[in-house]
Amino acid sequence: MGTGELDPWGTSSVKDYTRLRTEFGIDPVAPLLSRFKKLSPHLSRGIDFGQRDLGRVLDAIEKNNPFAVMSGIKPTGDFHLGTKMTADDMIYFQSLSKKTTVYYAIADIEAYADNGLSFEETSKIATRNVADILALGLDPDRTVVYFQSEEVKVMRLGTVFSRGVTNNMLRAIYGERQIGLYMSALYQAGDILMPQLPELGGPKPVLVPVGADQDPHIRLARDLAGRYKDEYGFIPPSSIYHRLMLSLGGSDKMSKRSSSTLLTLEDQPKDATKKIMSAFTGGRDTVEEQKRIGGRPEVCPVYDLYRFHFARNDEHVKQVFYECSKGVRLCGECKQEAAGLVKSWLDDHHKRRDSLMGDARELLAKSRDFLSSAGK
Ligand code: SF4
Repeated sequence: MGTGELDPWGTSSVKDYTRLRTEFGIDPVAPLLSRFKKLSPHLSRGIDFGQRDLGRVLDAIEKNNPFAVMSGIKPTGDFHLGTKMTADDMIYFQSLSKKTTVYYAIADIEAYADNGLSFEETSKIATRNVADILALGLDPDRTVVYFQSEEVKVMRLGTVFSRGVTNNMLRAIYGERQIGLYMSALYQAGDILMPQLPELGGPKPVLVPVGADQDPHIRLARDLAGRYKDEYGFIPPSSIYHRLMLSLGGSDKMSKRSSSTLLTLEDQPKDATKKIMSAFTGGRDTVEEQKRIGGRPEVCPVYDLYRFHFARNDEHVKQVFYECSKGVRLCGECKQEAAGLVKSWLDDHHKRRDSLMGDARELLAKSRDFLSSAGK
């Protein structure tokens, strides 16, 4: 697998996670699981499969030392299930210690560079996205949310970093790209390293939960942390990687670039049901064949809905996998069950999210004040 196949701005899925780990030097999560007091569904279901320096964050949790969790969203549309996975990890790690601060970047520069969305458009989308993460369980009292384009500390770091990298280095990580994407990658490195600036408490472990395809950004930020260690005292950021969820079409990762095969947190339950009922599956050509040799949950996006988000618990995930692979479960009824779970989840989420729009605006305003006065 070359860099061209690990594209943070693309839609391709990862076929072989073990190979990805080996090729890019990502360590497995499994040896660290005994250090968690309570596993998240992502950890217990093998969805979080890789990490870099996660032990440093676990040390901070065990010693009750401060650390940060850094994440963000590219505000190009509705919050979708792929984005929810990163948010779920962020919220879980925030819950593990009272000494954590979450930094959440609204990547409006990237949305402009990659998707051509104006800053006015992304500003409107972002408030709703922030209400989504609050509804998912983020603690606003230990969270700082900001727009990349407004945060002067990020702009300064991106500018500093632009003197420390060459075109060749960016090409080796990202392949041949427009300058705008290279610039947004440098600002993103600024997002990741900003929590370690003196005005925000100085060097500390920072965990970045990401999808497997975002590793190029982590490699760049870690490289820059090393290059600027003497000047800023940066500790290389840690990362945890989740598997990519299949789109409902079955081939690519779930992404905003293919809306018909995407489930979003904005979908009306009846629309979500339609999409699920017409989704690709890992089922066989005929009912007889499926009963005889079983289905293939490992390539089925409907199974991903259970495993990644909507199963009642881990036992339920195992039950779906077992029944499918033994030919006891058939695709029609399996989709109906998944659609029912998604419907009731969306109904609840919409109510919670709509009631939190004011809180989202408040969090954005409070964060703006906090960042502009930090270090003064
Ligand atoms: S039974 Fe369910 S999990 Fe199995 S292939 Fe069909 S839809 Fe997918």
